[in-house]
Amino acid sequence: MNSSENGSVFMNIQGFDCVGFDLDHTLCKYKLDNFFSLVYDYFAKTLVENKGYDKRILQPLKTHKDFCVKGLVWDIRHGDFLKLSDAGVILRASHGSRLLSYAEIQQKYGAERLWQHFHCLEETLEQCELYRYYENYFDMPSMVVGAQLVDLEEEKPGGWSASWERVTNDMLQEFRKLFSSHLYQEKLPAILTDCTKHPTQYVERCSPHLKEWLKGLRGERKVVFLLTSSQSDFASDLTEYILGADWKDYFDINLHYARKPGFFKIKDPSERPFFKFDDVEKTEEVTELETGQCYIEGNAKKFNEYLQKVTGKQQPKVLYFGDSMRSDIHPCSTHGKWQTVFVLEEMEVEELVPNETSVGMATDQSDGRNTRTGPSKLEREFLLSNQWGSFFTDELHVPINSKHTEEDSVDSTSSVTKPCSNPSSVDSANPTVLNTFWTGLMKKHATIAVPRIDYMSDFPTDYNFETFKSSDWRKGYHPGKPKNTAP
Ligand SMILES: [Mg+2]
Repeated sequence: MNSSENGSVFMNIQGFDCVGFDLDHTLCKYKLDNFFSLVYDYFAKTLVENKGYDKRILQPLKTHKDFCVKGLVWDIRHGDFLKLSDAGVILRASHGSRLLSYAEIQQKYGAERLWQHFHCLEETLEQCELYRYYENYFDMPSMVVGAQLVDLEEEKPGGWSASWERVTNDMLQEFRKLFSSHLYQEKLPAILTDCTKHPTQYVERCSPHLKEWLKGLRGERKVVFLLTSSQSDFASDLTEYILGADWKDYFDINLHYARKPGFFKIKDPSERPFFKFDDVEKTEEVTELETGQCYIEGNAKKFNEYLQKVTGKQQPKVLYFGDSMRSDIHPCSTHGKWQTVFVLEEMEVEELVPNETSVGMATDQSDGRNTRTGPSKLEREFLLSNQWGSFFTDELHVPINSKHTEEDSVDSTSSVTKPCSNPSSVDSANPTVLNTFWTGLMKKHATIAVPRIDYMSDFPTDYNFETFKSSDWRKGYHPGKPKNTAP
């Protein structure tokens, strides 16, 4: 990356030796309105049929669309869903699907409203038995089911505190089966089969302009690779659908079923070697990777040896595109030295404000390229939420005088000025805007962010992208900032 005197730090794709892509929700844009409903319906049905849960969860996802949002943390024992700031303050919370008041949050989590597991979560981004977080479009619909199960359990004697362990185990077990990433079963799980049988309903083809841009990368002699955790047969079908029958020509090498983030974390390459795959099962273990091939499993250490070999460089510069903070962006930043482009659809649904140099905002050019329709109405409704507010920021309304009402604070002895989640009781003219947990992670770990990968093809190949490492980090958003941003 290059720095300038005014604190701006730039990256230019021409400066990279290798460019890699995640598949799901990155190179392959899903039609989230249909896809979310598909996941939700299967999940609710399987819990009712296999585990005997209340049929009321079978109502369509549309009924709960305002609860559905990316980035919440489920504090499992409490049965609470939390929206966190980048410092671990609980910005908003619900018990099951019921929004909690400011006082209720303080009663449960203390006057400062700091969530006790925040630092562990921020550092490791691991899921555990105490909490689960929802940061990708595969499991977001399951969160909505979880909230309803908390509500329904609370109607029974003993409530959620008597049943949380059983319910969350059932959920985890059934959800895993839905997407079972177990490679060696005879057929794909039903959700994935539906996607590959009816792709027009669930995914979008790459535009001719994007395909041209992708081919251009290989034309510039960069090593271009696909690195996905999806099962090999599913990934091949999907890539063929979005790119066409010549999909293999777009990549120097294809890595499927990579089981990220583990792929990046493996210290001893012999722990998880690469294998060949013959359309049904894995065959021989591979000691040396070759261009033009497709492999499964493996690890970043061994893959870096391949990149060194083909680029002839000791430290090839790698740029990787991904949509998952947990599986793509965070491990690239913490376990490797790869730069990353974070694909974040929330940027688009929360309204883009063009950058001053508004390259890439073209929507209706005379040559017919770059015309994009943007998210559908229902997709927008699923990704946006009145209950939870922006994915990027939240407003805290700080009382002007420090006298707390009972509603403001249950701990009136505290001298700390408290933010308030109930704007009606405070001065709404003086809100403090805070970044969310996910914005904090993005600033720290991603290089730039774009709403969808096809925006990349609007920029000239030698474009200097300002990055999140600039003194004004918000310039790392391209082609524009989401409307809700904070310093
Ligand atoms: Mg993905």
